[in-house]
Amino acid sequence: GASTALVAAGPLGGTCVNAGCVPKKIFWNAAHLAGQMKMAEEYGFDAVAPRFHWELLKYQRDAYIGRLNGRYAQGLNGNGVTLIRGHARFSGAHQVRVDDNTLEAEHILIATGGQPVWPNIPGAELGITSDGFFTLEGMPRCVAVVGAGYIAVELAGVLNALGSDVSLVMRRKHFLNDFEPMLRENLMDTMLHQGINLLAQRQVREVEKRADGLCLHFQDGDCLGGLDAIIWAIGRRPNSADLGLELANITADPQGFIPVDAFQNTQASGIYAVGDVTAGPALTPVAIAAGRRLADRIFGDQTERHLDPRLVPTVIFSHPPIATVGLSEAAAQEQYGEEAVKVYQTTFTPMLRAFSAEPEKTAMKLVTVGREEKIVGLHAIGDGVDEMLQGFAVALRMGATKQDFDDTIAIHPTSSEEFVTMR
Ligand code: NDP
Repeated sequence: GASTALVAAGPLGGTCVNAGCVPKKIFWNAAHLAGQMKMAEEYGFDAVAPRFHWELLKYQRDAYIGRLNGRYAQGLNGNGVTLIRGHARFSGAHQVRVDDNTLEAEHILIATGGQPVWPNIPGAELGITSDGFFTLEGMPRCVAVVGAGYIAVELAGVLNALGSDVSLVMRRKHFLNDFEPMLRENLMDTMLHQGINLLAQRQVREVEKRADGLCLHFQDGDCLGGLDAIIWAIGRRPNSADLGLELANITADPQGFIPVDAFQNTQASGIYAVGDVTAGPALTPVAIAAGRRLADRIFGDQTERHLDPRLVPTVIFSHPPIATVGLSEAAAQEQYGEEAVKVYQTTFTPMLRAFSAEPEKTAMKLVTVGREEKIVGLHAIGDGVDEMLQGFAVALRMGATKQDFDDTIAIHPTSSEEFVTMR
């Protein structure tokens, strides 16, 4: 019921819709289909090796995103939200300027998101970030992805499955260093097997343009040449630099994040922040949940309503995908003590892959604590785990124990039944 204006400079929907989750998932779907087509022969079909037309999928994807942008505009309009096009900057404690317009409001929400980080090395501009990946008009033949997080792993997997020659360059021994190690160990094995060139412990020093393509020079003197694309996937930073925060009496932290309390309040009364511009998990559903709860609190009389940051489920759209919620084994031991933690794990060949000579495995792990074996972490990598996780995340939120899982009747034959039959 509040009178609301939205100031937006870019296309509606932000990173997720325009240069993140949505276009990524469309390409992931294509890559997944490529894998299924390869497997079809094992199931008695003639071998199929259809050509992939990148430009056709990009066209479809852009049209789909255009429809989503239109739906957001309609939604705003239908809900009586005034949409103002432009870049907003604070011009006072409760005042924002957009070009020549000044807006005043009792409540102001900052949800300006983030942007990819570029490395500070010679020749960095010869590469692209995920933003550039989404504008590519054709498939890069030979590509290096530099990084070790969600984006590096996802883009390397998609490009490899669609037929690019892919190197994944990371500065440490592993990627996904903040995750349960079982997940990355399995994924690293699978990626090697899929033919991805994993280059560990390589710091990029410089990029050079040569006649035969781009060349990555590493600190150790080695180099990787003949590349027609380099994708930087070394993290994202908040969009907070050009907001005139000082005029609203807000000071960003050294990384540029806007500090907020559990209720999304910034240091300035009546000014709030949600999403990637804050230091929480940079996940769309987290930002949406924080925003809804904030609206409930301010305008819906739910004075204590706020985001509970525990047990945020998340999926990495690798090939196969990773699904994870809660604590890793090591984090649980640190929090509850080694004695209190008991884990259950399994690795198996999913039935779908029964005819493969070297099948991709599925691996699952449950982390439990205490005598009642409350489940505080659930981790999996394998076909379909992306779609399995949401329901299990509900169970964990409700405080499920290992006994609850044991008492749940399995669905046979599925991979998800392994979660309730682990011994
Ligand atoms: P991440 O923060 O996930 O990972 C970036 C990693 O790159 C770092 O952890 C670091 O790993 C490595 N790195 C940093 N600097 C360098 C460097 N100079 N050279 C080489 N490697 C470097 O960032 P992403 O950009 O991948 O993704 C940003 C966020 O977006 C994610 O954290 C996630 O919240 C969100 N996202 C979510 C997705 C999903 O839900 N499926 C998909 C994509 C993004 P290390 O320190 O180990 O070297």
